[in-house]
Amino acid sequence: MKQFLTVYGAEPDGVWAAPGRVNLIGEHTDYNDGFVLPFALPQRTVVAASRVDTPEWTVWSEQADERITFDLSEHVSGWGAYVAGVVWALREAGHQVPGARMAITSDVPLGAGLSSSAALESAVLTALVDLGGLDLPVDQRPRLAQRAENEYAGIPTGIMDQSASIRCRAGHALFLDCRSLEVEHIPFDVAAAGLAVLIVDTKAPHRHVTSEYAARRATCEEAARALDVQALRDATLSMVSGLADPVQRRRARHVVTEDQRVLDTVELLRQGRVREIGPLMTASHASMRDDFEITVPEVDTAVEGALSGGAYGARMTGGGFGGCVLALVDADATDKVAATVASAFADRGFTPPEPFVAVPGPGATRL
Ligand code: ADP
Ligand code: MG
Repeated sequence: MKQFLTVYGAEPDGVWAAPGRVNLIGEHTDYNDGFVLPFALPQRTVVAASRVDTPEWTVWSEQADERITFDLSEHVSGWGAYVAGVVWALREAGHQVPGARMAITSDVPLGAGLSSSAALESAVLTALVDLGGLDLPVDQRPRLAQRAENEYAGIPTGIMDQSASIRCRAGHALFLDCRSLEVEHIPFDVAAAGLAVLIVDTKAPHRHVTSEYAARRATCEEAARALDVQALRDATLSMVSGLADPVQRRRARHVVTEDQRVLDTVELLRQGRVREIGPLMTASHASMRDDFEITVPEVDTAVEGALSGGAYGARMTGGGFGGCVLALVDADATDKVAATVASAFADRGFTPPEPFVAVPGPGATRL
């Protein structure tokens, strides 16, 4: 990575990368101990790093256009919190984290719901583990990266994003049980099925994401308590229909039906019936729109536009209130579907969306 040489005047010891992700299906199920099915994007965050002998970290980011230095004697805020949080989480877990100089660049769009934050944490974590020769098995890494984001940066998120960035495999989606943290790599070779995944960044401004996320999470926990289960993962539809509070009932119905849609999607993919997951994607979107109430006009318009352009299924991906939509389309129909979405946006006077085709890529790795 040439930027490291420019910033530090030397070659790095190594270069590491970790991808952004999209979630194929399973939204707001992770913190309910349920199931998710993300895959890694080809877009990724790259970290070039060298070890230094002092317990001090210097980090430059091309996207932040800034170089910062910290030693953990004071709390780091801003984008540096995601990096300092990883050092902190590793130390909390008892590891001797090596001091380092890092240069970071990324082609994951920031703040678009494609998890540039997890890509950053996962790339830095992978680099520091390798640089220090730390004994940290891959299956334990997502929890540490999540702690960096939750406890150090102060952003509440589930375990999905970091698991996807660290554990995904090319050509596969990652079936993750968020209770046991067991994973299974599910073949998701869309090209072999004559299909493509079109992702549309709606460019919708995120509105009240953090407070709405906290509210959904709290309602799910209340519903689980009312049903006397450990988490909504343990509830059934008939239990949910007995909930007295109508808002709890709708929120819980989303979680319970969404978990089932993940299981159904996994089963279809195991059988190679890729096209047939389309209706499950569209049903997931309807559930997020009507029961969980986390969509906004831009994402609803993108889904409707994609479906009217011939997509087999389409849904919002990510936490909601903006972000991206993904659509399953014929491989030769990506331009047509993208154009249909763009014209639906133009009709509504929305900012033009940004479509791209995503092929499931690998998880975090040394380059
Ligand atoms: P998302 O994860 O969906 O992209 P977030 O709001 O969770 O959105 O994370 C975006 C934040 O992560 C940015 O505002 C920035 O603080 C940090 N970030 C991500 N990638 C980089 C990067 N390459 N350089 C600096 N900061 C980054
Ligand atoms: Mg994020």
